[in-house]
Amino acid sequence: MKVRDILEKVLNDNILTKDEIKLLLMAEGEDKELLFKTADRVRKEHVGDEVFLRGLIEFSSYCKNDCFYCGLRRSNLSAQRYRMQEDEIVEVAKRAYQMGYRTVVLQSGEDMYYNKDMLCSIIKKIKSSVDVAITLSIGERPFDEYKAFKDAGADRFLMRFETSNRQLYEKYHPGMSFENRIECLKIIKNLGYELGTGFLIGLPGQTVDDLAQDILLVKELDADMIGIGPFIPHPQTPLKDAKEGSVDLTLKSIAILRLLIPDSNIPATTALGTLDPLGRQKGLMCGANIVMPNVNHLQYKLKYELYPGKICINEDATKCRGCIESIIVSLGRKVGQGKGRSRHYMKV
Ligand code: SAM
Ligand code: SF4
Repeated sequence: MKVRDILEKVLNDNILTKDEIKLLLMAEGEDKELLFKTADRVRKEHVGDEVFLRGLIEFSSYCKNDCFYCGLRRSNLSAQRYRMQEDEIVEVAKRAYQMGYRTVVLQSGEDMYYNKDMLCSIIKKIKSSVDVAITLSIGERPFDEYKAFKDAGADRFLMRFETSNRQLYEKYHPGMSFENRIECLKIIKNLGYELGTGFLIGLPGQTVDDLAQDILLVKELDADMIGIGPFIPHPQTPLKDAKEGSVDLTLKSIAILRLLIPDSNIPATTALGTLDPLGRQKGLMCGANIVMPNVNHLQYKLKYELYPGKICINEDATKCRGCIESIIVSLGRKVGQGKGRSRHYMKV
């Protein structure tokens, strides 16, 4: 089957087989251009020209997990650890609102110091101070906690499954189980959160077949938001000598997912911008419609080191926003107004 025919098919019924996805992932030259152009057109038709900005607040760099790829893993004894206190988190959220953000993303390592009551209190305080949507990105928790956070006012939850290859998952996530990850994602969806999930591109040992399966799993989980980023080796992790993930495969995966879930929200990730100076622009031109600038204080940004060379960590939050707004305008797009809920979520 030709790329043109595969694109025709997905435009008609939003379904692809694993083999068709693999062909799209391997497309080159004119075929690749056609994939990107088609995804960009579908993005415009289904979610418009607005690019929504999410203010990212990385509130703790402590983590009880030991993911092989991540600089925050508990075995990295040279990682710089910090915890922001409740009032400080609320203050940063208010500052983000004043800068124009209408969504804040509260992200951290898996840090059980923040128990159910504490997180509920933070969510409620932010919600009663400013009119923002709250996205949580704090990892795996029991059902009653996910429910309590939702009841307290959290709107969205982001948690990648990282890889759909069970063996790879268990190899790179010691002590964690793939089943539990997927179970958590299903609970989150059933509780009525806007569900964000996705995967890493370029984990050592990952094949194109695995990536096609990752794409199918995002579709099966019926994600409202899709986070895909290239793996970047961190020198203080077991994967320090591994090759970084491919920007090209990341862009193709974004494009394919735009075609499979046309009304979803898809960020052009910071990791993409870290590996390629024009990575975020390229992402926005092949299906993405979200950017997540960090709005935290400089001293924390520098310490939240998932991977080296992260862009924008020396920039003050106001400067960051200005820079991203000008990127958006230079692409002929508009900065989104309002909370930018996933249209996929609203349709259900
Ligand atoms: N701890 C939570 C979790 O794991 O879901 C949220 C924070 S975690 C740092 C957010 C994401 O960072 C992970 O889902 C992972 O895909 C990404 N990440 C971690 N290390 C990375 C690396 N070396 N390169 C690229 N992305 C990385
Ligand atoms: Fe912890 Fe998340 Fe990093 Fe894994 S990816 S070590 S859970 S912060």
